[in-house]
Amino acid sequence: MSAQQTIHVGGEWRSAASGATREIIDPADATVFALVAEGGTEDTDAAVAAARRAFDEGEWPRTPVAERAALLRRVADLLQRNREALGALESRDAGKTLEEGRVDVDCVADAFRYFADLVMNESGGRVVDAGSDEIHSVVVHEPVGVCALITPWNYPLLQASWKIAPALAAGNTFVVKPSEITPLTTVELIHLLEEAGLPAGVANIVTGAGDPVGARLAEHPDVDLVSFTGGLSSGTKVMRAAADSVKKVALELGGKNPNVVFADACESDEDFDTAVDQALNAAFIHSGQVCSAGSRLIVEESRRERFVGELARRAEKIRLGRGTDHGVECGPLVSPQQLAKTEEYVASALAEGAVLRAGGRRPEGEGYEGYFYRPTVLDQCHREMRVVREEVFGPVLTVETFRTEDEAVALANDTEYGLAGAVWTADPGRARRVAGRLRHGTVWINDFHPYLPQAEWGGFGKSGIGRELGPAGLAEYREAKHIYQNLAPRPVRWFAG
Ligand code: NAD
Repeated sequence: MSAQQTIHVGGEWRSAASGATREIIDPADATVFALVAEGGTEDTDAAVAAARRAFDEGEWPRTPVAERAALLRRVADLLQRNREALGALESRDAGKTLEEGRVDVDCVADAFRYFADLVMNESGGRVVDAGSDEIHSVVVHEPVGVCALITPWNYPLLQASWKIAPALAAGNTFVVKPSEITPLTTVELIHLLEEAGLPAGVANIVTGAGDPVGARLAEHPDVDLVSFTGGLSSGTKVMRAAADSVKKVALELGGKNPNVVFADACESDEDFDTAVDQALNAAFIHSGQVCSAGSRLIVEESRRERFVGELARRAEKIRLGRGTDHGVECGPLVSPQQLAKTEEYVASALAEGAVLRAGGRRPEGEGYEGYFYRPTVLDQCHREMRVVREEVFGPVLTVETFRTEDEAVALANDTEYGLAGAVWTADPGRARRVAGRLRHGTVWINDFHPYLPQAEWGGFGKSGIGRELGPAGLAEYREAKHIYQNLAPRPVRWFAG
């Protein structure tokens, strides 16, 4: 295995200046399957300098919108052409199933197409009525400049693309720093951007650790914007580091997402089956390593026993294994740290009085040498428990109950986060009432997890600042500029002398 050149600066692929490398681990069997460059401060500074040059002197920020949009569409086509390979790489690196890896690639291609369409359909600027025929006033939107894009390990390609596509559509240059655990598909994406014809220096990547690479990007005086997706504690560090240079900051952080099930959503056997099935999906897809995972089931007390019984029965049947193996429904956790964290949360919940209904253990036997953990259902939970308040980011579902609508809303909003939540009910009035009262950036009614590239994604509270996707996801990467032109200038005579 040779150390790869995974740092891309000013159009050149390089090893780390220090020569350091990092092993990339397959979480399904804990073996090393790739080596990447372990970048440091010197590599980061070189990447920022290249992005700065490409922004200040290069053609990309001044490239006509139609050409930028055409490039984004070429990238989408290349992604689709490489769907199988990219899906498989994502599956191996992040431990997700192959089908999830493929779906991620489709979603990424959609995001590139969406932002291409969005910029193509815009008008050039907004003319403002200044109250005089002698004044021409217009508001235009310009690229922010050099963007630092820092991403997590759970949806590596997707999260990078939700930043890269709008950043490029708006005419910015960037340095991306993928998670050190799962950098491989982001490196591949930079290759595809090159293949699509992006000028050198516009797209730069530094593989390496959060500190120093991410930390340096966040504080760097030549970076104009930092867009970060990751955990709350790293996000607050990024915000502090960005303060001295007063750069724009966008944060997509964690979630502790409620899935509220009213009794009227479970009346027929068919509706009951749908609600249980979706609760299972909400909590356990990608082994719960999803920022919007429905990790808090809040079910009406009268239905608790039947609902949790069925949920636990089905959770026990989930087939774990390597994501690329046939029939596997859930892969491993991404790292030994994530596994240990999950085990620790389950132990603390049980010590605090939760009742284990499914899982609560690692699977045994051949094929489980990696970081596997059984999907876990914890009944009889309450809001004081750590497992209810803090993001586990593993396959752990807690169950709380309510008796009234007000109680359900209060429980669902009782979190410092506010990323996403769902309400299940057969009553349309209640659906709209509850959706209106939930303090979360996305609310699903009788569904869980879907998102649309046209609709903003992001959180209330400590789930973040700003939005990705949708028109607001493009606006993050722009500065508004008011151009006020006096067509008949005259002296003002404020000062008499
Ligand atoms: P993390 O915070 O550990 O790491 C995220 C990224 O930040 C990585 O690239 C890491 O190297 C980097 N980083 C770490 N310390 C840094 C520092 N001091 N300065 C700058 N960069 C630093 O998060 P993770 O464990 O990779 O990802 C899981 C978290 O991401 C969860 O909390 C999850 O909810 C969140 N997430 C949120 C969304 C969303 O859309 N809101 C999407 C996916 C994941």
